[in-house]
Amino acid sequence: TAFADYGLPTPIVTALSGKGIETPFPIQAATIPDALAGKDILARAQTGSGKTLGFGLPMLARLDQGERGRHPRGVILAPTRELAVQVADELAPMAANLGLRMVLVAGGMGFGPQLKAFRKGVDIVVATPGRLIDLMEQGEADLSHVEMLVLDEADHMSDLGFLPAVTQVMESVKEDAQKLLFSATLDDAVSRIVKKFLHNPVTHQV
Ligand code: AMP
Repeated sequence: TAFADYGLPTPIVTALSGKGIETPFPIQAATIPDALAGKDILARAQTGSGKTLGFGLPMLARLDQGERGRHPRGVILAPTRELAVQVADELAPMAANLGLRMVLVAGGMGFGPQLKAFRKGVDIVVATPGRLIDLMEQGEADLSHVEMLVLDEADHMSDLGFLPAVTQVMESVKEDAQKLLFSATLDDAVSRIVKKFLHNPVTHQV
């Protein structure tokens, strides 16, 4: 299989090809078709496995199909600012190619540009949980239109004590929003999140 075979939007396939990315890694071959089909996914994957494209490409493709509005339709939660920056950097050029507006929401950065992005309208939010909740509580981030939610490195979010914040975010999106959870390990706390919020998840381990 090649990326060109998934029915992804052409600008995405072209952008990947420009970076020499033609053949999916195992985690991508596992998750992309199920995510494109709208399924909830529990993926056991390590850093460096290519998980970012595993959840990012289906999100870009699915949101490309819908109407761009004022409120975010996709959210990616990451445990640290560094990871959030890395995810946003990898996906932002392809999002821009599709006319999808992406904002990075993380602590230790000014609120100004984040507020401005929300007020102008945004399709995808890449965030650390704490800062996203700040913006929700200030009435700036409205997650009621979210169709797809990704938890990246859920085990690290648990280790860092972010599960209450993660839970608050999960409870702020529609019950039937598609949910993808990526984690290297599955402890009890992460398993409880899976059980509470994912609907009949397909499990992939690579
Ligand atoms: P990640 O595990 O998502 O952080 O990705 C690790 C690195 O692998 C990133 O630099 C990606 O750009 C690169 N990468 C991801 N998928 C592929 C692929 N299918 N072929 C070649 N490189 C890839």
